[in-house]
Amino acid sequence: MSVDAELSDFIRRMPKVELHVHLEGAIRAPTLLQLAKRRSVELPAGDVAGIERWLEFRDFDHFLEVYLTISRCLRDPEDFQLITAAFLEEQARQNIRHTEAHFTISTHIANGVNAGEVAEALAETVLDGERNLGVRLRWIPDIVRNVDPSRADQTLEWALSHRDHFVAAIGLSGKESHAAAPFREHFEVAKAEGLHRAVHAGEQSGPATVWEALELCGAERIGHGIRAVDDPDLVDELRRRRIPLEVNPTSNVCLGLVASLAEHPIRVIREEGLSFSINSDDPALFHTSLTRELELVAGELALNRREVASLSTAALDQAFLTPGERDTLAGEFAAWFEKDGLSPDSPSG
Ligand SMILES: [Zn+2]
Repeated sequence: MSVDAELSDFIRRMPKVELHVHLEGAIRAPTLLQLAKRRSVELPAGDVAGIERWLEFRDFDHFLEVYLTISRCLRDPEDFQLITAAFLEEQARQNIRHTEAHFTISTHIANGVNAGEVAEALAETVLDGERNLGVRLRWIPDIVRNVDPSRADQTLEWALSHRDHFVAAIGLSGKESHAAAPFREHFEVAKAEGLHRAVHAGEQSGPATVWEALELCGAERIGHGIRAVDDPDLVDELRRRRIPLEVNPTSNVCLGLVASLAEHPIRVIREEGLSFSINSDDPALFHTSLTRELELVAGELALNRREVASLSTAALDQAFLTPGERDTLAGEFAAWFEKDGLSPDSPSG
């Protein structure tokens, strides 16, 4: 079911928070063309329409090829600034006021980038975004399960030494068939040092990976986690501990984890009273955006304006913000919704 024009307009305009999006998977065709030209990387097409078609998800091997080609275009600090600035503009266009973006620094280190310089450059662009566009961005460098564990050391070290460069958390991504156990210590150190933990789990594999994320990684949020609904004890545990799931509907359909949006467990997740947010994951690759994902979910679950607005405020609650930052944004969100006729105690939206 699709939403009506009025609700669609409301979703487009309302202030939002995005908690699960990969910087490298958010690069849009014009930016990639510009970057590839700068770095003399050959792309399979020379125009925006051709690149858009190439970026779009086909299968997992193609997805990896796209990801690695994008990474090959990112050589110097100014390349990272270019894609981050374009990303921030896109977030601003959607009125996404706060974003936490995954970022695979270890791939870029393996490609020979200077990680310290990249951190400095990224911090500059984040500050510009905050000042000029009024949008906030925080980083979640990901440890990748299925690559050489020494790269996890690099990721943790980068995260810890650049906490004052807007790094909010450490993440875990990659193939879930590779256990999280080798990274237990990395997550323990991250926690002891005050970094948050956001772990991809329960996407490609079953509930056991979510238990692992909780028990071995001290996960505070689960990336995807949709398979958690297969285990009632896990559902109880997630609800009891108020651990949110970062749900990415179109990504799940594209990767064939669910046959269609109608079969997506988002309805069960909501009915079970689990905390969750809606996100775009790799918006350029899945040809989507946070706005689009919210529209799809609102249509599927037949949500009204008030219920859609509550998705934004819930995501804000789940964000890795300081209490001061959260209060400021919460105040701004409340004022916006009130102006739109959604006062805190009006009966319906
Ligand atoms: Zn992801």
